[in-house]
Amino acid sequence: MSPWQVSADLLALTRWLGEPERDLVILSEGNTSEQVGDAIVVKASGSSMRTATPDDFVTVDVDPLVALLRDPAATQDDLTRALTAGEAEGRPVRASVESLVHAAVRAVAPMRFVAHTHPTDAVALLASRQAATAFAEPVYTDELLILGRPLFVPYAQPGIELGRLFLASLEIHVAEHGEPPSLVLLGNHGIVALSQTTEGAEAVSLMAVKSARVRLGARAAGGVAPLGADATAHYFERPDFAERRAHLAGTE
Ligand SMILES: [Zn+2]
Repeated sequence: MSPWQVSADLLALTRWLGEPERDLVILSEGNTSEQVGDAIVVKASGSSMRTATPDDFVTVDVDPLVALLRDPAATQDDLTRALTAGEAEGRPVRASVESLVHAAVRAVAPMRFVAHTHPTDAVALLASRQAATAFAEPVYTDELLILGRPLFVPYAQPGIELGRLFLASLEIHVAEHGEPPSLVLLGNHGIVALSQTTEGAEAVSLMAVKSARVRLGARAAGGVAPLGADATAHYFERPDFAERRAHLAGTE
């Protein structure tokens, strides 16, 4: 707990994502983090994003959390201990149980900001029978530009179970594509935006919601017609595409 380590950028991002009209989170849902050296500053358990203050964040080291994820003998109790940063006013101050997701990102690549939310329309799609394949193919070019190649992770209980599955899925994605995704879709749960900038984390979160709405609408109108591999095959090789994507989604 070092409130002075909580940057103005992280605070602003957290509050922006927590604004009710964006419908990304309610109550104490969601969490954000910023990488600071070998540690992450991550939102504490049970606090609201909308009204976040520096006291609502905890600083935790990445390596011990990742070691827990890689240790098959580690338990949820080990995790709870690792996430407890100390006490404030007689109660334990604990990093969010979803901090493992934030730590796992930094185990595969340096990433300044990670934002995890539960947008209603995205959760609707991710709670549907087509969740695993819903985002497999882009359906309009702007989502391809901002979201890149999203990663889907099936449902797992938040905590050590989700952390392990999230890390394993992320490692496969990076091995396959040579870079981390900008968006991770969590089955029956929510979304995770990865970006080097606050603007990128916001853009990815908003575009994920729009993409979910477009798919839900297309289904209601008779079915989703994806762009198809022919239309999108060479986008990722185009320098102008990579440059715009880097700027808008904060990929570097
Ligand atoms: Zn969540």
